Amino acid sequence: MSSRINIAIDGYSSCGKSTLARELAKELDYVFIDTGAMYRAITLYALQHNLTKPELNSKKLIECLPEIEVSFEYNKTRGASDVLLNGKNVEKEIRQMEVSNNVSPVAAVKEVRKKLVELQQKMGEQKGVVMDGRDIGTVVFPDAELKIFMTASDEIRAQRRFNELKEKGNNITLVEVQKNLKERDHIDTTRVEDPLRQAEDARVIDNSDLTRENQFELALSWVEEVKALA
Ligand code: C5P
Repeated sequence: MSSRINIAIDGYSSCGKSTLARELAKELDYVFIDTGAMYRAITLYALQHNLTKPELNSKKLIECLPEIEVSFEYNKTRGASDVLLNGKNVEKEIRQMEVSNNVSPVAAVKEVRKKLVELQQKMGEQKGVVMDGRDIGTVVFPDAELKIFMTASDEIRAQRRFNELKEKGNNITLVEVQKNLKERDHIDTTRVEDPLRQAEDARVIDNSDLTRENQFELALSWVEEVKALA
């Protein structure tokens, strides 16, 4: 069957959602969309405009939303899209720890979510999208043909993220990474607006003991199963 489907991948921070989403998109010749990058871009804007200290000034941020444009630009070298904030490539900046430490309160703002969810839904209108985030299977694409919910043990997630950041030259400790993941998971699962939760019809991948290849093969077999039924 050649019909295109939408694939929603949700889960806790640093479970390898983006890695799987990118691999699936490449294999299927679909578009990969990292929605976390979109929330991170708005957070970068808030940081640049001093809207985060001593705590997030959500009123001001909401006022600024019409001036904030988030878009993507394909990066051939990475084989994925870089995120742009008002036309400027900010893919590198949004991965900094300062952004990670401020993103969850920004993502909890109703108006921020509304703006980004609308954009994400537009991107999926033509199908053929693999999107990862926290609310993709529950809010953005509740009708996605395939929904995957990813988990992994806290220790493994923190270690993976720590290694990733170290490799990129970040000066950070494992304890800082653990603290950040814990805080984000807490805010993401307990916020009022579109909290992170597993969609009832999602298939679960716990990749604590799975290799990248195992996880990819499993997900791909689900894609084939779903497409055969479509
Ligand atoms: O995926 P990533 O870890 O880069 O996401 C950063 C943050 O963006 C998450 O911790 C969460 O607060 C927010 N997010 C969200 N909804 C999404 C994607 C990300 O609230 N769909």
